[in-house]
Amino acid sequence: MRRAIALSEDSVRQGGGPFGAVIARDGEIIAEASNSVTLDDDPTAHAEVNCIRRACKKLKTFDLSGCEIFTSCEPCPMCLGAIYWAHLDKIYYGNTRKDAATIGFDDDMIYHELALDPSRRQKPMRPLLRAEALAAFEMWKNDEGKIKY
Ligand SMILES: [Zn+2]
Repeated sequence: MRRAIALSEDSVRQGGGPFGAVIARDGEIIAEASNSVTLDDDPTAHAEVNCIRRACKKLKTFDLSGCEIFTSCEPCPMCLGAIYWAHLDKIYYGNTRKDAATIGFDDDMIYHELALDPSRRQKPMRPLLRAEALAAFEMWKNDEGKIKY
């Protein structure tokens, strides 16, 4: 966790957001990263997502079971989702989402939105062309050689 916090401070000095993350397995650091949203013009370049990408590349896998993530701040909904998709075993975090909100990173608003029925969210969201979209799902369902994840 101290390494993740150090990364978050280095990130601020380098012009990135104040977030750092480390992924470890059996006490050994597999990957580390900081937030690079503004540096890379990538709104998804949060420390946790960047770290997951690096860890997966290093281990040549899309499944990080057996690994833990140490992040300098409670993950936002996007990163929490990515952590679940990556099958990381455990999450340790430093700052809370409330702490983040006090400096202008309102993840809490997104958590609130997720709890609402889609029709009540700020972003309009409606189904479209479901029957056509289902074709790919049928292909997937019937593909004997697919790699499940
Ligand atoms: Zn995030």
